[in-house]
Amino acid sequence: DTYYNLKVEFPTKHSYIFSSVRFIIPTLVMTLILLLIFLYTIILAFRQKKLTEMKTDFINNMTHELKTPISTISLAGQMLSDPSIRKSPSSLQHLSEVITEESKRLRFQVEKVLQMSVFDNTGSALKFTEVDANSIIANVINTFKIKVEKYGGSLTSLLEADNALVRVDEMQFTNVIFNLLDNAVKYMDEEREPMLEITTKDIAGNMLEIRVKDNGIGIKKDDLKRIFDKFFRVSTGNRHDVKGFGLGLAYVKKMITLFGGNISVESEFGKGSTFVITLPLIEKSTKED
Ligand code: ATP
Ligand code: MG
Repeated sequence: DTYYNLKVEFPTKHSYIFSSVRFIIPTLVMTLILLLIFLYTIILAFRQKKLTEMKTDFINNMTHELKTPISTISLAGQMLSDPSIRKSPSSLQHLSEVITEESKRLRFQVEKVLQMSVFDNTGSALKFTEVDANSIIANVINTFKIKVEKYGGSLTSLLEADNALVRVDEMQFTNVIFNLLDNAVKYMDEEREPMLEITTKDIAGNMLEIRVKDNGIGIKKDDLKRIFDKFFRVSTGNRHDVKGFGLGLAYVKKMITLFGGNISVESEFGKGSTFVITLPLIEKSTKED
């Protein structure tokens, strides 16, 4: 038997197929571009919605936080006009304490909202001086120790930095530490006693490291990247009763950046959080000379 092979060749086969589908390529590209634009728009819309919700929350919280002290003060004022109360020195004493405390709180709240808008991004309104971070921190700790101990917890400080001389605005730096400790107390886990720890140490690169550690409710990974955003507050969780503006950490970040430093956070949900600040140090010798 003999077999014969027949070979047929189409030399233009490839270009034929290509030329027949070529016209849909621009269409495909266009569709892809349109799809991407569409997705981007959707993402933007969602972000905008979230922001609007956050702002509404902020307004509601602010109304609440400002109204409470105001109504307490005005109530105390009304009671003062009652003759029977005016005759009793102990009631007078109590009322004046209430008014003082509540107006202090009111001032603190108003200041917090103002802090954010007063300082532009250049920091030109800041008054930079050389200060010892250890001693400022020690001062703030005094205020918080009582608060933490009231909950049966403890606040320990290990201010181990030999050199803690930094160039910052003293007032704002105090506020920064205050805000971090305020959060540590506010977001404590009610199941356990609050154990706060604040440490300072000198680290490589002529930097001061300040760590504020708590054993509070912690922050979920998804929320972690947004906590420094203005108005952002973790929406779900067991501490929704805690009021706030969502401005504290945005302010802290802004200030630390203006001081030439950096802030980062490590947190484990349900375990606790640690905020780490690094600030450039001023050489100790230059000051001692
Ligand atoms: P305020 O402006 O009064 O400080 P706030 O405390 O809600 O309001 P931030 O201080 O900016 O705002 O904190 C943002 C959010 O990050 C908080 O709402 C909270 O959910 C979360 N958070 C901050 N610090 C801690 C912490 N130490 N432990 C757990 N969650 C925290
Ligand atoms: Mg706060």
